[in-house]
Amino acid sequence: MPDRPRLLYKGQPTEPKSIDPRAPAYAVRQLVQQDGREAPRALYEAFDAYNAAYFAGALKQSLILMTTPASPRAEGDYVAQDVHGIPSRIRIAPRCERHGLLYLQDVLLHEMVHAWQAEFLDDLENGYKGHGPKFCRKANEIGAKLGLGPVAPKGRGGLPRPDFWPSNVRPSGYYGAQLPAPGGRRRSARTRADGADGGPISTVSDPLLEGLGEVDRQLVAVLAKATGRPPGALIGAWAREHAQALASASPAIAALVAGIEA
Ligand SMILES: [Zn+2]
Repeated sequence: MPDRPRLLYKGQPTEPKSIDPRAPAYAVRQLVQQDGREAPRALYEAFDAYNAAYFAGALKQSLILMTTPASPRAEGDYVAQDVHGIPSRIRIAPRCERHGLLYLQDVLLHEMVHAWQAEFLDDLENGYKGHGPKFCRKANEIGAKLGLGPVAPKGRGGLPRPDFWPSNVRPSGYYGAQLPAPGGRRRSARTRADGADGGPISTVSDPLLEGLGEVDRQLVAVLAKATGRPPGALIGAWAREHAQALASASPAIAALVAGIEA
């Protein structure tokens, strides 16, 4: 008769020695410098540069991972302590890399503001899903140094929302030809990894929606929420549909469309 399966967990750590909670972050950082690809290397380097320029060098080392955040539609997230006990874990969605290193670094800068909230204010502004007045004050302080316009909680006063800061206040063309596609909710910040992961669908400030009137923006946001698809995907589907209709009516447009799809 086979043994009953036994849990190997006894509730006690096998290593009684204490460890610097930042050691995993330092170790990953070192490994990235040794064997990592360009994108994560750029992120760890940017962490140092931003820390010095915008946080007086006071942020402790974050564990930065290019891996899917808790919400697959998010572009990044921050947690003050993950389930392993690792402090200040920043995750950046690998798909952000297709928009280029500048975009990746902007996602990092956003998450670093959450790290600053956690480490210096002990307030991740959960009532605002991380993007309250304190987040905005810091983002705007950094934004002023970068020559970027201000954001406001929930887009008050007609200002852009902070959820997508700074990418939604960068000048158009900043990321080159690699246009950022709206990723639905971008950034969540939580105190602990076991917290609830709710969040707004912050689509109305997406760069791809530039030129849309407020009513249309809200419609796209509602559709995105109802279908669970990011606004970029909705607009892309609409564009494809209409491109086919136009192509069937115009050989010139048909040739352009064929050129894009080739
Ligand atoms: Zn955020």
